[in-house]
Amino acid sequence: MPKIGFLLRGVTGRITASLVVLVSLSILIAAGLGYFKLYEVTEDNSSVRIDRAARSAVALFTHELSSEFEAVRGEDGRPLAIRLKADTAETSLSFRDEHDALLKEIGGINQGAANLFRFNPDTGGFDRFATTFRKPDGSMPPPMSIMPGHPAHAHLANGEVHMGEVPVMGRMRLAYLTPIIGPENAIRGALAVDVGWADDLIAARTELRSEIGLATGIILLLVTSFGAVFMGRQLRPVRVLARYADDLATYPKDGDVPFRSNKDEFGTLALALERLVALKRRLAWLAYTDEVTGLGNRSRYLADLETAVAESHSGSANWVLLHIDLDNFLQITEACGQINGDKLLAAVANEIKRVAGNRARLARRAGDEFTILVDDRNSADEVAWLAENLLEALRRPVVLGCGVVHTTGSIGIVQLRDHEATAEKAHLNAELARKKAREKGGNQAVVFTCELHAEEQRRFELEDLLRSAIANQDLDIHFQPQINPDTRQLMGLEALVRWTDPTRGPISPAEFIPIAESSGQIVELGNTVLELACAQAAKWRRNGFDFKHISVNVSPIQLWQCSFLDIVRDALKRHGLSGADICIEITESVFVDNGEERIASVLAGIRALGVRISLDDFGSGYSSLGYLNQLPFDQLKVDRSFITDIDQDVRKQKVLHGIVGLARGLGFQIVVEGTETLEEVGVAEEMGCDAVQGYYFARPAPALLIPDMVEKISQAAANRTVLQAR
Ligand code: C2E
Ligand code: CA
Ligand code: CA
Repeated sequence: MPKIGFLLRGVTGRITASLVVLVSLSILIAAGLGYFKLYEVTEDNSSVRIDRAARSAVALFTHELSSEFEAVRGEDGRPLAIRLKADTAETSLSFRDEHDALLKEIGGINQGAANLFRFNPDTGGFDRFATTFRKPDGSMPPPMSIMPGHPAHAHLANGEVHMGEVPVMGRMRLAYLTPIIGPENAIRGALAVDVGWADDLIAARTELRSEIGLATGIILLLVTSFGAVFMGRQLRPVRVLARYADDLATYPKDGDVPFRSNKDEFGTLALALERLVALKRRLAWLAYTDEVTGLGNRSRYLADLETAVAESHSGSANWVLLHIDLDNFLQITEACGQINGDKLLAAVANEIKRVAGNRARLARRAGDEFTILVDDRNSADEVAWLAENLLEALRRPVVLGCGVVHTTGSIGIVQLRDHEATAEKAHLNAELARKKAREKGGNQAVVFTCELHAEEQRRFELEDLLRSAIANQDLDIHFQPQINPDTRQLMGLEALVRWTDPTRGPISPAEFIPIAESSGQIVELGNTVLELACAQAAKWRRNGFDFKHISVNVSPIQLWQCSFLDIVRDALKRHGLSGADICIEITESVFVDNGEERIASVLAGIRALGVRISLDDFGSGYSSLGYLNQLPFDQLKVDRSFITDIDQDVRKQKVLHGIVGLARGLGFQIVVEGTETLEEVGVAEEMGCDAVQGYYFARPAPALLIPDMVEKISQAAANRTVLQAR
């Protein structure tokens, strides 16, 4: 049933229905016209025939029996009655052979029947006394009468002619009944002639009607099947193309549009659809493709990630998300320009494509951040292998317009099945792992773990707590003496920031300094430390506690501040200190970001104030001897890694010996950090270092305790000298 409904709603249905209606109408009109014409003609013919039959019958009858009868005619000559010349009804209207012969002749002329009736005053009817009818065996048919109720009776009883259909033996005949009247016009009988069976005519019409009906039915059936089959077939392309267009609006379509090679309107329609498909493809490409690299863009990445998370959770796949970024992209674009930067991105994208293969889904999310989604369902090592190969590929030097550049990448990895409930979370965790890889120095991959997340959580909390600690001046500084290993005299003191949270207890600067740096709090923190250190230095100077300088750690971010020089100058001025009372400690990481020139000018300004400059953690990072030569250092602080167990390690001794020689050559003081044992102090002394700073002599301590501590150290040295002298 719904199919029929659909058929009617469809073009085929509608065309077929219209055809059926049109054809039915034309058949009806044509057949109706024919039918009615025929009706009219037969009707006319029969009235003409019956008229003639009546005229000839009456004429013949009154002529042959002229002695007894005469015709009464109207103006047009039509018989109106037959009159008995004398009152001889009794004999004239009873069966005689003469009558029989005459009726036969009349019937023969008219090709119909003829009957004679005599009025019966007793019954009021007309009894037949002669007829042309015979039974099949030739004998006379049974008597019959025209009784009241007979269609002709009323006319005849009134002495009038009756022309029309009358029932004869159960059938209808078209008859003309002429009344026979007496000389005084009283009704006596009737002469009836007919021209055959009237119902033959009716039957013919009925037959014609049903034949027209049958023909109409057949034609309609033909038209309907033609409509349904032929039109349906002809219009099939419309249906297929309509479905295709509907699908096109919903899904991406591949392959050729059907009927595109048709030479008719459908072909044109198909070609237009094909152009739409191409346009849609192009739009999708634009919407989901990064133009620089040809990889997916941010939208592609987000859509793929949604799918990957859903598939990983349903268990149908095991997607792993990798976030990659270049460790030094910014520096390269700054040095080589945007166009070369784009070239580098394209080159990196090619490398990633080559290594990750076809199954991976690749995108550039933003800047130099690339993403990879790879289904790890086949082998568990696949991702480790992939990360390793990616790192190696990223290390390959790339030739750009500005020369050969070297890059490395940091990679964050997340197993979507293990950790990720939502795409957003997956994204954040991959970011977190990638940042971790970067923090650890880059050129490595870090897999996201719950611990990493907890660490990040703690980091966020600390960031908040630190903000209020700085605002509430809850930070404090401790000092660690730097002692001359030979004379055991105090050289300088390093100011080290201390933070004790009321609920978490003491938190190590090794933990919160990086947080302060990444959250933009290091400048304020550094200023606070500088202020506290200067205040303490001034206090000690006033109290007569003797020291050469107080060392303050300065983060690279502080040095990048335009106001740094002013801040140092103001602090010295405020506390009445000379530049030489302060030494700032900077690490080699200051120079990593290609800003040597700017840093050199800041350092020159500081130097001009008389402030000393120390290169901290020397040897722990990517030392470039070039810095030592070009920058205005006063002091080199050798990293603790060089001194630990140095008394048992000849190679370390050789390295330290080399460093000391180098520093001496350049006129730097040498401070050795992290001396924990007497033996380590001994080696430092032997090598001729200027100072040692380590737990052996003193741990960092509050300012109040420092003078006593220092006093004790030099006292012990004095005692040792006395003992040695004895
Ligand atoms: P650093 O500048 O290298 O400071 C020396 C660190 O070594 C201090 O750790 C000190 O307590 C520790 N140390 C000293 N002697 C020994 C020893 O014999 N053995 C061992 N194992 N360690 C020793 P601390 O105070 O935890 O500081 C850690 C780092 O935090 C510092 O390393 C410095 O980079 C940073 N930092 C500390 N205070 C400040 C500050 O005020 N500003 C900035 N920017 N950074 C600071
Ligand atoms: Ca330091
Ligand atoms: Ca150090």
